[in-house]
Amino acid sequence: MSKEAGFFNLSINKIITDEHSQMDVARVRLLYYGLWLVFGTVSIVFINLYFQHKAVLTSVGGAVLLSIAILFKYLTWKPDWKFVSHALLVIGSLINLIDVFIIFQRVDVVTVQLVLIIVIFSYYMLGPKWGMLYSLMNLVPVVIFMIYAYNNIYIIDFKPQRLDQPTIIISVLGNFILLVFIHNHFYQAFITNIRQLKKNSHEQKRLNTVLESAIDKAEKSSQAKSEFLSTMSHEIRTPLNAVIGMTNLLMMGNPRNDQKENLEILKFSANNLLAIVNDVLDFNKIESGKIVFENIRFNLTELMGNICGGQIIKANEKGLNFVLDVDPRLNQRIIIGDPTRITQIIFNLVSNAIKFTQQGQIQVIVELVEDRHDRATISFAVRDTGIGIERENLDAIFEPFTQESITTTRQYGGTGLGLAIVKRLLELKGVQMQVSSKPGEGSAFTFNMEFPVSTEKPVEKPKTTVPTQEQVADQNNLSHLNVLVAEDNSVNTMLMKKLFSKWHLKSSFAENGERAIEQVQYGNFDIILMDLQMPVMNGFDAAMEIRKLEDPKKANTPIIALTASALIDIREKVFSSGMNDYVSKPFKPDELKEKILNLVGDDTLIK
Ligand code: ADP
Repeated sequence: MSKEAGFFNLSINKIITDEHSQMDVARVRLLYYGLWLVFGTVSIVFINLYFQHKAVLTSVGGAVLLSIAILFKYLTWKPDWKFVSHALLVIGSLINLIDVFIIFQRVDVVTVQLVLIIVIFSYYMLGPKWGMLYSLMNLVPVVIFMIYAYNNIYIIDFKPQRLDQPTIIISVLGNFILLVFIHNHFYQAFITNIRQLKKNSHEQKRLNTVLESAIDKAEKSSQAKSEFLSTMSHEIRTPLNAVIGMTNLLMMGNPRNDQKENLEILKFSANNLLAIVNDVLDFNKIESGKIVFENIRFNLTELMGNICGGQIIKANEKGLNFVLDVDPRLNQRIIIGDPTRITQIIFNLVSNAIKFTQQGQIQVIVELVEDRHDRATISFAVRDTGIGIERENLDAIFEPFTQESITTTRQYGGTGLGLAIVKRLLELKGVQMQVSSKPGEGSAFTFNMEFPVSTEKPVEKPKTTVPTQEQVADQNNLSHLNVLVAEDNSVNTMLMKKLFSKWHLKSSFAENGERAIEQVQYGNFDIILMDLQMPVMNGFDAAMEIRKLEDPKKANTPIIALTASALIDIREKVFSSGMNDYVSKPFKPDELKEKILNLVGDDTLIK
């Protein structure tokens, strides 16, 4: 408690520290100066009694002086005000009772003063509980004594002592000063305390305002950062769209072998850049709390097949064995969750596994660990026999923009965002990922996730007969289709024109949403491709307007959104504005073709 108060310290400044509250300081001060005052008064009384040769009273006075000196020393050594207060109150009560019952055998003004001092002192120093106890301890015996004395039945075998008038005056005066001192001291302390509280509350208010404006600033700057990233991504993705699109077109035009190689590199680099832009965007979205998980019914076995389909080819190209092992009990189950996010998580882990493995195998194991009526706990594991990770780096690899070492960056490329995204996505779902790894032997990333299970019986898919070659050719033939493309970017328009001419597709172009609506009204289109960000009227509004057209055939024309912003939360907006599907730019020609065929394919077969 004390700062550096040694045993020989007598100064009050050394025993008051910053840890003491305002009231505690007042208590320590009261004890310090109060003990001086009492010591002074008792000393005078003691000298007076000594010269009057009153042996009993002189010894009591001496004992009191000694106790006060000891307590004072204790206080200036260890400022334990609670202990000193109790000690003083016990001594005071004893003196009071001995005076009344033995030494003087009467209740006089000094007794009343002493009781009053004990009452006030105990309440101020130790609070109401102890205050009440010490007050009763002194009052009750005094009242009992008064009753006995009144009835003249209090007689003991000791001759009561009497004080001379000067000693009485000194005692009364000393006690009075002590009473006023205690009261005055605490009154001052209370007032200072109230002032301090007021000042603190003003300071608190000021700090709150400062804090609020700081939070506001931080929110604004984080919003500005998100907007900047979102705009940048759009600006980067649009020319990238052209680069990838043109590369695809060139590759479709039977290039020479050496040209094909160059085009492959161009496509690989552009796709890599796109993946980085998407990762940065996604991470930004997670960090700014904009991720909303969907609850869609899906079959996990099918989803895992789709995710790993492309990856198996990649692994095989590298000479790696790829094992996808999905619990057969999941074949018939429809679970509810966000397939896009599951895809993102598994895709990241499997891509890493393939990237960091030179030989051996990649294992993706999905197991139903707990199967209840309407909930299922499923464990996912992605194992590889790759380079592994040093023990001390196992935490760091989940940090954004962190790779295991500089060598990793140099040898394998990447941004170090994949695992950070995976970890944060899982954390948002309350899931913790486990990773175990041994350098040179391989790594395993595992996590368990709980899903609600759809209790409806899965609908049996009608058995599809294998289509004949002519049917397939027919199905893939788009030449009879009339397509409207709403797109403001001239490079993209040119790209589409070239692509559609390869598909022998009739196409018209509108440079904004408003023009697109006009063209739909006067033309006859089988499908509309709608860019979302356009001047004058954007794609969402245009789609909603088209859905409101009077002619039901026109109002129901299938619409595919073309979106340059990152997929995830655009999806809901696309569907809620009445569009049927979307492709993310830069799109793969085959993907677009498949989506067009999905929406108009069946009809065209009939035609
Ligand atoms: P990136 O793959 O872009 O480098 P990630 O966040 O996906 O970023 O991974 C961070 C780092 O973790 C990687 O750079 C690599 O050092 C390490 N790592 C991740 N997965 C594996 C794995 N399967 N085997 C070995 N190292 C891995």
